[in-house]
Amino acid sequence: MIDEGLMEILACPACKGPVALAEEWIVCQECGLRYPIRDGIPIMLVEEAQPAATDGGEPDTGD
Ligand SMILES: [Zn+2]
Repeated sequence: MIDEGLMEILACPACKGPVALAEEWIVCQECGLRYPIRDGIPIMLVEEAQPAATDGGEPDTGD
């Protein structure tokens, strides 16, 4: 999987915050963005990132 030394040099490209390995994702500890891991390679691209887990999916602003 992902080497811990690699984790130490990785940083969130969106906020430069520290990241942690979570199953198949690299999760930013600051902004919560999740970056996919493909073939063991973290895809540290904001465009590929998923927003923080939205349990419940609260609607944005209603009218
Ligand atoms: Zn971040």
